[in-house]
Amino acid sequence: MRMYDIIEKKKKGEELAKEEIDFIISGFCSQKIPDYQIAALLMAIYFKGMSLRETSELTVAMANSGDKVSLSEIEGIKVDKHSTGGVGDKTTLIVAPLVAAAGVPVAKMSGRSLGHSGGTIDKLESIDGFRTNLSREKFIGSVNSLNIAITGQTGNLVPADKKIYALRDVTATIDSIPLIASSIMSKKIAGGADAIILDVKTGSGAFMKQPDMALKLARVMVDIGEHLERKTIAVVSNMDQPLGYAVGNSLEVLEAIDTLKGKGPKDLEEICLVLGAYMLKLSGRNEDIDILKNELQELIKNGEAFEKFREMVKNQEGNIEMIDNPDLFKKAKLKIPVIAEEDGFVTSIKTDSIGIASMVLGAGREEKDATIELDVGIIIEKKIGDRVSKGDVIAWMYANDEKKAETAKKMIAEAYSIEEKEPLQSQLIISIVESTAN
Ligand code: URA
Repeated sequence: MRMYDIIEKKKKGEELAKEEIDFIISGFCSQKIPDYQIAALLMAIYFKGMSLRETSELTVAMANSGDKVSLSEIEGIKVDKHSTGGVGDKTTLIVAPLVAAAGVPVAKMSGRSLGHSGGTIDKLESIDGFRTNLSREKFIGSVNSLNIAITGQTGNLVPADKKIYALRDVTATIDSIPLIASSIMSKKIAGGADAIILDVKTGSGAFMKQPDMALKLARVMVDIGEHLERKTIAVVSNMDQPLGYAVGNSLEVLEAIDTLKGKGPKDLEEICLVLGAYMLKLSGRNEDIDILKNELQELIKNGEAFEKFREMVKNQEGNIEMIDNPDLFKKAKLKIPVIAEEDGFVTSIKTDSIGIASMVLGAGREEKDATIELDVGIIIEKKIGDRVSKGDVIAWMYANDEKKAETAKKMIAEAYSIEEKEPLQSQLIISIVESTAN
């Protein structure tokens, strides 16, 4: 088999055979196929696409390229959750304990922040002592005893994705649906999921800016799941403004605690209830989604969801006093307002700019190994549809460095559009994409 012929085939829009896909992935991982040939293939895939069969086979080849996690020692259906990433997206911190409190085992491996998207592991590390590097035994044991553990990724999971993603990043081939779908689904399959809930974001703070592209991506990932016998449901949701009000690691943990106590922002609570209800469905529950949502709402009201979060923090050696008394979270040195410069309604927010402003303050990483500050970030005061008067605070910045705060302030102010006419409210949940076999 020759890589040249495979590139030629895809260039003409023909379907690749399984043997060819396996040859590409194993050859690239063993450095027998050079970067420049893979780069050419990625561009051919970008323009010519891939069929569902090809995309599923690519997913499997990638998933098999490194270590695979087995969750077979945990009883029950293990439902994994994946968000395509957004700004202020702290849903895992809420959904995981919520669903665990409802009796579903949550064995969650999460990542760190990169670019304008946050990462669950960084957020949890703002709780003093919280361990995010659990051994396999501790991870499995915790899920078996408490129904919940959240840890960082260990081992050499899907090395093919790391190598391919790095090439996509420099060849303008990130936004290809088969390449995104296989990248995400290969990690879920290698992570040992029996079933998968996907939170596919769309809008100004998302990777997929256009809803039709997000819907297409959701459909492809759900179909791959079905093809590979992993029940998969995608919730396509709006990321035209930050989710909730808090952006930044410890600020997001505090908002998650409020939400688990029933005192969180409504949009954040709603998406968590929807994601949680579909996770219960994927775990085998047959009731109507509204009934499952009500059950989860009740677990917030009666304190069981918050208690599950407490138990997880204690089990992972986090300082439980901080959870009981959030004033103990370390505070940034400076609290600086961003002020509205005109009267009117907030009509749009460039959400990716808010994410970048938070990164500029120090809450996120531009480069993979950069260090971050867990106490800095942004609290949004005004969201789309809110009326503002000149001089009102539209957001607060929590910062440790005046220079960085100056840059971030400008970015936040420029991210807001304030106009005379009241805007229409957009829907939070855009669509639920389920297997056509359901
Ligand atoms: N997230 C991933 O994990 N992979 C992609 O290709 C895009 C988003």
